[in-house]
Amino acid sequence: MAPPRGDESEGPFARLVIENATLVDGTGAPPRGPVSIVIEGDRIVDIRGGGTAGIHGGEEGWGGDTRVIDAGGHYVLPGFVDAHAHLGTPSHAAAGSLTDPEYVFKLWLAHGITTVRDVGAMMGLGWTLEHKARSARGEITAPRMVVHSMFPEAMDSPAEARAWVRSVRKRGADGVKFLGAAPELIEAAMVEAQDLGMKTAYHHAQLSVTRINVLDSARMGLDSMEHWYGLPEAMFDDRRIQDYPLDYNYSNEQHRFGEAGRLWRQAAAPGSERWRATIEELVELDFTIDPTFTIYEASRDVMRARTAEWHADYSMPYIMRAFEPNPKVHGSFFFDWSTADEVAWKRNYRLWMQFVNDYKNAGGRVTVGSDAGFIYKLYGFAYVRELELLQEAGFHPLEVLTSATLNGAELLGMDGDIGSVEIGKKADLVIVRENPVANFKVLYGTGHLRLDPETGELGRTEGIRYVVRDGIVFDKDKLLADVRELVAKEKAAETKP
Ligand SMILES: [Zn+2]
Repeated sequence: MAPPRGDESEGPFARLVIENATLVDGTGAPPRGPVSIVIEGDRIVDIRGGGTAGIHGGEEGWGGDTRVIDAGGHYVLPGFVDAHAHLGTPSHAAAGSLTDPEYVFKLWLAHGITTVRDVGAMMGLGWTLEHKARSARGEITAPRMVVHSMFPEAMDSPAEARAWVRSVRKRGADGVKFLGAAPELIEAAMVEAQDLGMKTAYHHAQLSVTRINVLDSARMGLDSMEHWYGLPEAMFDDRRIQDYPLDYNYSNEQHRFGEAGRLWRQAAAPGSERWRATIEELVELDFTIDPTFTIYEASRDVMRARTAEWHADYSMPYIMRAFEPNPKVHGSFFFDWSTADEVAWKRNYRLWMQFVNDYKNAGGRVTVGSDAGFIYKLYGFAYVRELELLQEAGFHPLEVLTSATLNGAELLGMDGDIGSVEIGKKADLVIVRENPVANFKVLYGTGHLRLDPETGELGRTEGIRYVVRDGIVFDKDKLLADVRELVAKEKAAETKP
């Protein structure tokens, strides 16, 4: 269990004012400022200034017990939504320790993530829901949580599938995550979830993608597809099944991920009629694509992922061990990874990114999810990397930020409350010392390496200053100091005889 909130946070306040900020509100509007954002309790009650005259309310005084943050020179964004997250994974336990929730929560918040959708509740549904409730009560240092329960692959009948959905709803799950199963079971569970007002997410695993691809599940009413599997398969023109080598074995993860890198090129070509019709139908169905580009990135450059500059201070030793090649741990598949595998994946990315960018341009909803905790990807850091990868896919940084905020909120059905900085919404904010629209790298917890033009010294910028969730102000520098301490303690404990 995560410990109670400590001195890394304050509030909520009767009245909190963030003055002199440049605002990027998440709706797609360009940066504007200076503005003053007035918050009472957990809600934004006023946004002043930022109009053509540039006047703002700082001089008039805010009243005695108002907490004021001077955000002069700072940018303010809506809190980020990580649409594909895991509050730990049991595979870390296999490598020495069960994931520490305090560590994960603080890394998320320190990177501006104020809401996470835990897809699968792998640490246990009851445990995950308990953390969700404690976070909602403001008792622990954590983002807001939305929890999807993992649909079991083996079920006897559609009636049993529907009963299972009712049972997890009763326990408090917000949604269901699918990996695959017989079509009649998926369909029954999907209908039941919709009847109960629950959300659905689906990673179309290759074991059942031949029977249900993305178009099939989207037509059943699925809310979001995770990653990308099932999308090329929905656009096969000259085959029904992926071109597996004849000695392929799905349980051998180097086979699985190596061949996945050769999948997009088997689908209909970009811009083809099939490609365009698929996009059109998915947009029409109000479907969400949650690509999680970042989690596959090691496949196109394993050395970069393995030696990322934050591992030294921020990666738990048991997590790093779980990432190392190991046939028994999911996602740790680089047994004998080759240049050819990486080149295939680089080409795979070009096609995949083009689809996602085309989908966005056609009006489709794209969200930002990280899937961190696997494949050398660390909580929080992987999220910022996902922002960079969406920009690489062709998104304008403001389009990226809308995906990270308002689109995520829409996917969760929470856009009335969160996802943009607007009067009446919850006070979920990221306050940054620099301009993240100009460079997402400033959002990394390690800051951004930059040569100071005046002193000629190489140094790190300081990035995010505060993160606000439900009017509670979290100090990023303290959050990260705590994380470094947790990692150092774990390392020291391991080196004890
Ligand atoms: Zn996942």
